[in-house]
Amino acid sequence: MSQNFLQTIEKHLPITDVLAGDKLNTAQLSAEIKKLLTEKNAAIVAHYYTDPSIQKLAEETGGFIGDSLEMARFGAESPAKTLIVAGVRFMGETSKILSPQKTVLMPDLHAECSLDLGCEPAEFKKFCNANPGRIVVVYANTSAEVKAMADWVVTSSIAVDLIKHLTERGEKIIWAPDRYLGDYITRQSGGDVILWDACCIVHAEFDATKIIALQKLHPDAKLLVHPESKAEVIALADVVGSTSQLLRAAQQSQAKKFIVATETGIFYKMQQACPDKEFIAAATEPFGGQINCEASCPWMKMNNLENLLDALKTGSNEIILADEIVKKALIPLTRMLEFRKKN
Ligand code: SF4
Repeated sequence: MSQNFLQTIEKHLPITDVLAGDKLNTAQLSAEIKKLLTEKNAAIVAHYYTDPSIQKLAEETGGFIGDSLEMARFGAESPAKTLIVAGVRFMGETSKILSPQKTVLMPDLHAECSLDLGCEPAEFKKFCNANPGRIVVVYANTSAEVKAMADWVVTSSIAVDLIKHLTERGEKIIWAPDRYLGDYITRQSGGDVILWDACCIVHAEFDATKIIALQKLHPDAKLLVHPESKAEVIALADVVGSTSQLLRAAQQSQAKKFIVATETGIFYKMQQACPDKEFIAAATEPFGGQINCEASCPWMKMNNLENLLDALKTGSNEIILADEIVKKALIPLTRMLEFRKKN
């Protein structure tokens, strides 16, 4: 991964302990949020990687917990007039694109994603122009502007199927931004795919050597791996899949113990769905030797009950997108939703 990418990420990492205040007063904050959700006809749409206090509140208030695609779909179908998207910015943007008539708020607009940060729109445009005649497929973890340049948007749950489908049609492909996921889908599909060079700094930290050592300590554990991880980690997996697919695998498996190579926020739902099973975080090594997330996304953890309440109370941190971008980005997103329905 380039030095530029590493510097961009370091510049955007949150520096404060944003959860500290949240832990002090969970019950009171939750009660206030519940009241305001009803008053404002609002719903919490939370990602699996957010703090358990937020996931719990989403469940208790008829909101939603899921991956980015499921979040956006829930938002579009929900009768709520306001969506509080607890996740990272591209998730708020996707919700806005699919529900332009709704108010979309976020607890913190600075909650970013290394994949989105690593795919700057002007640079990506140059890359596409330098590789003409290829179908442009971008991961959901991109800005609305990058989505607006794409032919297709995909999530990890359908990426392999879509690239296989396009390859069978004889298409050559540009894939962005996650090079590890791109590498995985290229190997799975046998397609002609050119990869953009960015990664998720959380999943890129999972370390094959350390995981093998962990497997020796827990020989009865199955290894669940998200495909944003490196190829050598994926090669060790019993199951490779999106966050929702890994959650389902944990529920359906006969095994009682799992080593999990994805963000540890998912443990809340895994433990809730499988109270008799044990989940162990896969071992990590600092990304680029410098950034140490330990399987916890620093931007997802910027969401807390305090800033969620604040956004709801004041209407701040609203996602605003230009109509032109919404119109263009809606095309590849709609293709994705239709492909998903058929496959
Ligand atoms: S876990 Fe990785 S892909 Fe997900 S939001 Fe954080 S940086 Fe982005």
